[in-house]
Amino acid sequence: MKITFLGTGTSQGIPVIGSDHPVCLSDDKKDKRLRVSVLVEWGDFTYVIDCGPDFRYQMLRSGCRKIDGILFTHEHSDHVLGFDDIRPFYFRQGDIPIYAHDRVLGSLKQRFDYVFKTENKYPGAPGVICNAVVNAPFQLGGLEVMPVNGMHGYVQVFGYKFGDFAYLTDMKAVEAVEIEKIKNVKVLVVNALRITPHNSHFNLDEALRFIEKVNPEKAYLTHISHLLGFHEVVEKTLPDNVFLAYDELVINL
Ligand SMILES: [Zn+2]
Repeated sequence: MKITFLGTGTSQGIPVIGSDHPVCLSDDKKDKRLRVSVLVEWGDFTYVIDCGPDFRYQMLRSGCRKIDGILFTHEHSDHVLGFDDIRPFYFRQGDIPIYAHDRVLGSLKQRFDYVFKTENKYPGAPGVICNAVVNAPFQLGGLEVMPVNGMHGYVQVFGYKFGDFAYLTDMKAVEAVEIEKIKNVKVLVVNALRITPHNSHFNLDEALRFIEKVNPEKAYLTHISHLLGFHEVVEKTLPDNVFLAYDELVINL
């Protein structure tokens, strides 16, 4: 399995438009973070988790030419706004399978109504096949995918576990029974927004405590704000098995 970090930034990305914050002005490539998303590949299969506003550039930058589907974690704009840019994939491949909680599918239908039209549909609009995700395992490309339920403030969010890889973003609270599903996983990705607490995201301390509970071989932090600090500086403060993810990082497992 190959994981490619397409974006590791929080909702505004880094740099933030017009910001003079030192992290936003950093020349380190690892301090430049597009909106959060990963590519998960195994065998001949390629899946994307989330489809934010940077989706088009992320597909170009990663050289991705085919996707077998998109899994959504939740409906916030930084996770769905690139949805129209699935068009090149649709033109080549036909309807693109999407996987999301029923509520998230409803939100996509509202915001991108033309994609779901059944009559007088604009010919340039993309098409999708909707798959509602409930909190139970499902099959994808011959692999079992396990949803991991959590809360992002008042918003329900799904993380996903593929074999020995678990991807959780925008979490603030995860129940013990959900943590049990990903215990001792090889690679865990989890969100860590910044140093100070936030009402709907783990801060660094909460992410590290969560990692201790999951006990993965390795953990990577994502959905990072410029307020977390410089990549190089923060990385040195982390436990031995915890790393900051960065854009274009590839993990093979
Ligand atoms: Zn987000």
